Amino acid sequence: MTRLIFLGPPGAGKGTQAKKLSGACQVPHISTGDIFRTAVAQETDLGIKAKAYLETGELVPDALTLGLVRERLTAADTSNGWLLDGFPRNVAQASFLDTLLQELEQPFECVVNMEVPDEVVIARLVQRGKEEGRSDDTESTIRNRLKVYREETEPLIDFYRNRQQLVSVDGNKPVEEVTEELIKVVQP
Ligand code: AMP
Repeated sequence: MTRLIFLGPPGAGKGTQAKKLSGACQVPHISTGDIFRTAVAQETDLGIKAKAYLETGELVPDALTLGLVRERLTAADTSNGWLLDGFPRNVAQASFLDTLLQELEQPFECVVNMEVPDEVVIARLVQRGKEEGRSDDTESTIRNRLKVYREETEPLIDFYRNRQQLVSVDGNKPVEEVTEELIKVVQP
């Protein structure tokens, strides 16, 4: 059973690592960012409402986010576990997740905190913007996403550390080395 939450700034490699582990552990990679990007591209109701937040790097309001996480974590393919990437992103989301997982009787193993220095994160995001054409990987949006991360998401490090649920991993290493570290975390 693998249930992990990935925490870290944008560009820390959460998505890259979650995708790799998802293949290795045969559990779904659940990225709220991917769900929102798909919704925006498909111009669904959710996408239309979420678009401006993604473009500026603000958090999509909890009123739109919590419901979709509940829906995703109650889907049939999550019975063997999941890897959560990009959720929770603030204390209210973390409390919601606690309640939801209690209700579903799905305790998670730990929160992986991917540590990467700011300058590395910025360089990676600028590069990704060029390679993948992600519209939120532009310099001003990147700056705002880091600000939002610091103000809203970073407090979750202490939130989980105080509960002895945090495992920090050095994300400033080659992708394969980070994956090896993470496999040790899931298969100690
Ligand atoms: P990500 O791909 O995780 O960096 O997310 C891209 C964007 O999607 C973020 O900048 C937010 O606008 C939005 N987003 C993703 N996850 C969340 C979340 N848990 N709560 C609110 N907004 C989110």
